Amino acid sequence: MNEYDSKRIYDVVKKIGYIKTEKPDEANCYIINTCHIREKATDKVYHDVGRVKKNFRNKKKPIVIITGCVAQAEGEILLKREKYIDAVVGPQSYHRLSEILKKIESNSTSIDSTEFEVIEKFDNLNLIKNSDSNISSFLTIQEGCDKFCKFCVVPYTRGAEFSRSIKEILNECQDLVNNGAKEITLLGQNVNAFNYGGNKLSTLISEINKLDRIRRIRYTTSHPLDFSDDLIEAHKTVEKLMPLIHLPIQSGSNKILKSMNRKHSVEDYINLVNKLKRLNPAIRFSSDFIIGYPGETDKDFNDTLKLLKEVEFINSYSFIFSPRPGTPASKMKKIDENLTKERLKIFQKSAGELKMKYRKELFNKKSSVLFENKIKGKENEFFGRDEYLNSVIVKSHNDLVGKIEVVDILDGSQNTLYGKIEKKFNNFAA
Ligand code: SAM
Ligand code: SF4
Repeated sequence: MNEYDSKRIYDVVKKIGYIKTEKPDEANCYIINTCHIREKATDKVYHDVGRVKKNFRNKKKPIVIITGCVAQAEGEILLKREKYIDAVVGPQSYHRLSEILKKIESNSTSIDSTEFEVIEKFDNLNLIKNSDSNISSFLTIQEGCDKFCKFCVVPYTRGAEFSRSIKEILNECQDLVNNGAKEITLLGQNVNAFNYGGNKLSTLISEINKLDRIRRIRYTTSHPLDFSDDLIEAHKTVEKLMPLIHLPIQSGSNKILKSMNRKHSVEDYINLVNKLKRLNPAIRFSSDFIIGYPGETDKDFNDTLKLLKEVEFINSYSFIFSPRPGTPASKMKKIDENLTKERLKIFQKSAGELKMKYRKELFNKKSSVLFENKIKGKENEFFGRDEYLNSVIVKSHNDLVGKIEVVDILDGSQNTLYGKIEKKFNNFAA
């Protein structure tokens, strides 16, 4: 979502004449967009500002603005501690950036803009075309969260659940199509909680499916509790909906899930996975895991390993529990740091082995790949992704950008698959 926000921030400031520079040392304005989901985010801000300060020691000071969730959560402290920062702007206020920049240009008082103005934000952004020209583009449809998992800052930094209207989403989608997008990833902290006037995510997906030039649709991140039957059904009926579902579980232990306030059990999760697989056997899953949550015993951790193997996730993102200021879990007793690190290592080894096993199964098979770009500095090498978001590289003398091709997968590592384009025979050739 920060990637989407950064692009929209650029669309906003472009309106008043700011353009991106390839030479950061000559910039007259820095906007640092931040994430607060895990620790070190604030340290990174001070570090980045320090670097700008050093580079501009003998030059005119550029405007420095911190946007995003660190600005929301710790804006006041940032402004007090680092006078070099001119403004802090929360994730629901960045539509005000042109106005804020003009104020800073005319007088140099520091500005704190961290209100929750999500409706106003999108009302303003709707008036500014999305200039993203990627083949695969992000589109935010839902923001915020009402679930209050005990470890998570999102409900405090992004605010309450909010869904954009289907009409405005489709308008923005059309902008992206006009810019060349072939794949749209619908974004939300709880994307499947999307509900605009009773219309759910499945309705929106069906509408986007009707757009001729869109070839692939994805959505992320889903919550198991919001996986309604209509969305499950969409995975059978909507042809452009991709068969990879990112469905965070966090832990394989019911005790830990309860203590996290996830409001579903491991069994609920497995039932959902099986239901989706029965409906569409091509579906695969990826997930997020938190390792070393307060109270996690060896048994809880082993249950997580068991679940990892049972579902055979093709991609697992694992994070050491990070106590976020203001969340209930931050007040719980932490478990031993070395033990947590050891568990993370074991988990990532297992997840890596599973991923490699899955990838080897793809060798000598065909994959449908949407090509996103030519690789910089390489002659005739193109980068694309298959239906499961696996990165694929092929060599070709034809320009493949924006095309979907059937690729024979020949080889690969944990991160990249290598293949060649299936030869096309011309029936009418002499
Ligand atoms: N809404 C999604 C869900 O509930 O499944 C997840 C969104 S969250 C922004 C992305 C991921 O960050 C979570 O799935 C979780 O694994 C991780 N995360 C969030 N807070 C964390 C914390 N305090 N420590 C470690 N990881 C955390
Ligand atoms: Fe955070 Fe997701 Fe839980 Fe909401 S549902 S509080 S975004 S982890």
